[in-house]
Amino acid sequence: MRKRIQRTLVAVALITALLMCVLVTGALYLFVSNQLRSELMQTAATLGSMLLKQEDPVAFLSGGVYAERVTLVGADGTVLYESSRSTEGMDNHLSRTEIDEALTRGEGFAVRNSSTLGEARLYYALRLDSGMVLRVSGAQRTLLAMLLGVLGWILAGAVACVLLAVLLARPLTARLVKPINAIDLDHPLESDAYEELTPVLRRMDSQNARIAAQMERLTAQHNELDAILGSMREGLVLLDRRHIVLTMNAAACRLLQVEDNPIGKTMLAVTRSDELVKLLDAGMGESDMTLGGRVLHVSISVVEEGGMCILFQDVTDRTAAEESRRQFSANVSHELRTPLTTVSGYAELLSEGLVKPEDTREMGSRILRESRRLLTLIEDIIRLSRLDEGVTRELSGCDLKAIATACREKLQKLAEEKQITVTVTGTPRMVTGDRVLLEEMITNLMENGIKYNRPGGHVEVTVEQRGNRPQVTVQDDGVGIPKEHQPHVFERFYRVDKSRSKQSGGTGLGLSIVKHGALAHHAEIELQSEPGRGTRISLLFPPCQA
Ligand code: ADP
Repeated sequence: MRKRIQRTLVAVALITALLMCVLVTGALYLFVSNQLRSELMQTAATLGSMLLKQEDPVAFLSGGVYAERVTLVGADGTVLYESSRSTEGMDNHLSRTEIDEALTRGEGFAVRNSSTLGEARLYYALRLDSGMVLRVSGAQRTLLAMLLGVLGWILAGAVACVLLAVLLARPLTARLVKPINAIDLDHPLESDAYEELTPVLRRMDSQNARIAAQMERLTAQHNELDAILGSMREGLVLLDRRHIVLTMNAAACRLLQVEDNPIGKTMLAVTRSDELVKLLDAGMGESDMTLGGRVLHVSISVVEEGGMCILFQDVTDRTAAEESRRQFSANVSHELRTPLTTVSGYAELLSEGLVKPEDTREMGSRILRESRRLLTLIEDIIRLSRLDEGVTRELSGCDLKAIATACREKLQKLAEEKQITVTVTGTPRMVTGDRVLLEEMITNLMENGIKYNRPGGHVEVTVEQRGNRPQVTVQDDGVGIPKEHQPHVFERFYRVDKSRSKQSGGTGLGLSIVKHGALAHHAEIELQSEPGRGTRISLLFPPCQA
């Protein structure tokens, strides 16, 4: 812009200089012409008045010396006197414009180019009272000649102007541009720039406001999207067609164990998982893959221009739950088959009359025992299924001591059979819970204390307050549980001593029910056991709200 302004300034200076020179020369030319004209008029008037007094004007004129060329022409156009040469051979002058005009109007002017280049001649003719015409003429330089004459000056002036313009252009341009450069583009209306720029600055200001509003909207949308992506439990990754990461939300970073910024890197570089890259190469589809010990369900869909959108879901727990359900079903069918096979075997023998009458009683009691086992098993399975489904019965304030006392009464017969002493001590402690479930949990613990014990053994149930939390503890001095089995005894169908469990009518589900019951009551379980010395299991309930 600066250069352009500078160039324009120099050009304007040059043109102005040239124009001025031409105009001045033109004015000079007019002035000189007018000067000459009035000189000629004055000479003609003076000579004319002198000639009037002369009898022989030709003789009078011939005796004088004139700065201008003087001609005397008769009324018929004959040249009577010519100061510059002899009149001999001169043609009739009636055809001359100035002579013709003088004869008709009294005076006449004419300008004719002379034979000399660059010179013109101005003629003034005056009709005398005698009828003759006195003509005076003088030479004058033509306009072109004058121009050529002052050409040197014109050029010198133009050069001077250009030099001046060049010298002034830079500071002038800088002064001109300074307020424009000083405009604050963020707040254009606050700038003290040229008035002519006000419409542009207003427009700029309104555009600024529009851009700011759009930016605000975009930022809000961006933040909203970030919040949605950030709060998603599923991992979301967007890739371009070269598998370069465009977006990866927080859940995806967590699931894929990505710590550094993944944007702009390839998926292989980010995850180091060949399994995932194979899935990506295969294109759209769904599949499970393992990464860092977790099972991830991967859904891949192709988006615009060959890019990909990948959704990751952590299905480790779901897979584990499915596996445990599968195992549970297998165990259930196995556990059910054993007593059923026994029952149907004995029943077959009986129905075919292959049993001796004296053995009928024994066989009947075996069928009864196995049927009871089956029943208990089915009841336990139903209980666990209910707990799995989260089916809770009505919650109420329950006294743990009262429940433990009721359980002891229920198990009194079994305890007597096994010669075990069962005692319940402590103070009444209230918890908010499912009475039936609490009863089942405490019964299972006490029953285990009786079953896995020696004749003469003891089971002691203590109900007490630990801090602000109610606690019930079942302690026996029975066979105990070896250390390596302790972490597993709460698993379904897990038995330390299979034959002993079965012999005593155990289903392998008692402690599982205790575990799920504790979970449902937000209670903690503590297990301490030593083989040969006994087992102690505590249920620590949350502080009672009621
Ligand atoms: P079960 O019906 O076989 O008793 P549980 O789930 O109640 O099943 O117990 C799982 C296993 O833990 C039992 O088979 C037994 O081996 C062991 N166990 C449970 N309670 C005791 C205890 N008080 N003393 C010794 N072993 C026990």
